[in-house]
Order: sequence, then structure tokens, then C-alpha cells
Amino acid sequence: SQSLAELDPDLAAAMNGELSRQRDTLEMIASENFVPRAVLQAQGSVLTNKYAEGYPGRRYYGGCEYVDVVEDIARDRAKELFGAEFANVQPHSGAQANAAVLMSLMEPGERMLGLDLAHGGHLTHGMRLNFSGKLYENHFYGVSKEDFRIDMDEVRKIARDTQPKVIVAGWSAYPRTLDFAAFREIADEVGAKLWVDMAHFAGLVAAGLHPNPVPFADVVSTTVHKTLGGPRSGLILAKQEFAKKLNSSVFPGQQGGPLMHVIAAKAAALKIAAGEEFAERQRRTVSGAQILAERLTGADVAGAGITVLTGGTDVHLVLVDLRDSALDGQQGEDLLHEVGITVNRNAVPFDPRPPMVTSGLRIGTPALATRGFGDAEFTEVADIIATALAAGKDADITALRARVSRLALDVPLYSGLEDWGMM
Ligand code: PLP
Repeated sequence: SQSLAELDPDLAAAMNGELSRQRDTLEMIASENFVPRAVLQAQGSVLTNKYAEGYPGRRYYGGCEYVDVVEDIARDRAKELFGAEFANVQPHSGAQANAAVLMSLMEPGERMLGLDLAHGGHLTHGMRLNFSGKLYENHFYGVSKEDFRIDMDEVRKIARDTQPKVIVAGWSAYPRTLDFAAFREIADEVGAKLWVDMAHFAGLVAAGLHPNPVPFADVVSTTVHKTLGGPRSGLILAKQEFAKKLNSSVFPGQQGGPLMHVIAAKAAALKIAAGEEFAERQRRTVSGAQILAERLTGADVAGAGITVLTGGTDVHLVLVDLRDSALDGQQGEDLLHEVGITVNRNAVPFDPRPPMVTSGLRIGTPALATRGFGDAEFTEVADIIATALAAGKDADITALRARVSRLALDVPLYSGLEDWGMM
């Protein structure tokens, strides 16, 4: 039968354009990564043809003998990697994993307590327009105005006042590690369940660079495609006592047939995440983010004096604070885009500018670390960003773009792949 390029040249051209964009620019969106060839192969496989509603050994369709093996491998690897009693690998996305978690732990109308979206929380942690904000009574903790860190005494106070059924710890934009033991203590004190959403930092946990929430939390959810470096999807880990409820909340509660090709890709990614090469990559990720924070704030490059929230980072991202800058978040994002670096604007806590403009940038290192960047390359990219942000409208785009192209050539991406990533 026809290849995609023969069948649909317009589609193929756009997909090839995306491959070139990934190769020629520097990807620094903190939630993105590049999947390895094995993951592309699994995800582009005939497993996409199979219906497999239910769970291994208990399916509602025939012919599941091979996909059962695939899902068992994925579940076992997820449990092993994070030390969990239970895993469900079927959620199509992080948001769907979170919907299933909340459905398992609470009834509509009950109270939950999470990190405010404006302070780095996620939509599914109670944002007004999200299902979580519509179905439950939402309360929020934030970061402190002084040091931009989560103050556990404040969390305790709000938990005592609001008596939530579920406390969620986890974030989409926060540059420090969380104190899971303190969250556990507070949850126990007020009789709440503790849910940790480790979507952003799961890869760091797997590599032993970030505290593991699994021993402390009742339930842990994650995406697989951020630091963890797998296919775009979600998974849930939990204590055994929540197994039945979680399984039924995913299917039939939230989803129909699982995406078996994606589950195969998750299994491949989890195997990679258990290896030493992966751990080394996560070390370069964190080291790169720390170099970025130092070069932006330090006095030795043009970027001297750019503010980053909390003064640095323990993880894979840096939050640039542009509240006192002539440049707003939108202008900063556009400027770096012109230079060939992709980041996203992001509201900072207590942001005076509107959400579509913002006063912040979220800059992450996972994708570049996967590409092969080490300290030397991260120093150069940090200096390019610092120079651009410090110069603002006067930045020499041509010169900075040439430095970006040099880095992209020196550390090539997907060299073995042709067309839009066909293996
Ligand atoms: N949880 C957190 C903390 C996230 O940052 C994200 C994605 O940004 C999600 C959940 C949702 O993941 P998805 O985009 O796969 O629905």
C-alpha cells in the first residue's frame, strides 16, 4: 500500500517541517523531550489496531494474548522503577490519569487542596474551568511572597482550616523539590488522602535525583513524556488498597480501549529509564538547569542581574522573573523564538500582567540533555539566552541565531532518521 509521502504529500511536508524544526532549533520547553527510536517504533506499530478494553487476563475482546504480555511488562516495569505496589499504565494522558485519581479518592462536591495554578499548579489540580474545578470544592496553597517557595506551615494551616478530602502535591512550574514527608504528616493530621502528581519530575525520581513520593503518597500520577522521556501519555502508581478503585476509574470510568501501541512505547521508555545512561542524562539535565540559573543571574555574562525565582533550581527548569523588566513574557518568548530557542511564557506568582502576556519564562533542559548537551553546551545556550534577554529589542538576532545553529549542528538530533521520523 501507499506510503504516507505518496498518499498525502501535504501532510508529509508538514511532518517533515516539524522534524527539521526539532533538529534546527533548541527545544527548551520544560515539559518536552525527544523520544528514542525504540519508542517511535513501538508507537508507530500495528498495536494501534487492537482493541483491548479491560485488563490483562480480563479483557472484553478476543485476541489479546500478545497485548496482555505488553501491558504486563509495562506495569511491572513501572512498579519496579518507582518501588510501587500497584500500577495502571492505561491513561491516555496526564490529565486523564488525574481525572481517574480524583474519581477514585473523592465524590463530587468534596474538598481538595492543591497548589494554585498562578503559583505553578496544574489545571487538573482544581482550576475553575477544568473538570477538577467544576466537580470539587477547591482550596489552594501558594508560594511565599518572600522566597517563592512553598511554606509547609502555611499548607498545614490551610489544610486545618479547610479539612480537605484530598491534598495534592505536584506542579507544572516550580524550581525546587517538595517535602513529601511533611505533606504526608499534614494529610494524616487532617484525615486527607495524599496524591502526588510527579508529571514534571518523574525522570529525576527514576534517576534518584529527586525524592521519591511513592513511599509517602496514597496515589502518585505522572505523565510519561516529560523528564521521563517516553510517549505522550500518563500512568498511575498507588498502594495496593487503591488498586481496584483506580482500575475501575480508568476503565470504564474514564476511557474505553487502551492505546496498546502507546503502552508498548511506555514499556520501552520505562526499560530505558531504569538504565545508567538515563540516570546520566538526568544528571546533565539538572546540571544544565543550574548552569542556566547561574549564567542568567551571575555577573560574568551580559545577562547579569536577570532574576530567576528562588534564585536557582533543584530540578530541570528555571523560572525567569520579568516583573521588573521592560520585556514581558510574550516578548521574551518571541525574542528567543527569533533566535531559534523555544521556551514558553509563564505567569510568575503575584504577576501584575495578564495571563496571555505574563511576566515570566519557563525554561527547561530535558530535551537538550536528551539531545546530548553537557555543561559546555548548556553554558553556551545560557549565555545566548542571557545576552538576548538583557539586550531585549536591541538584541543582535543574526549573531545569536548563528550561535544557536552552531550548537544544533554540533549536537545533531535524530541523525539516523529519515522523513518525519520514520524508522
Ligand atoms: N500534571 C502536571 C503536573 C502537568 O504539568 C501536566 C502537563 O502539563 C499534566 C498533569 C497533564 O498532562 P497531559 O498534558 O498529558 O494531559
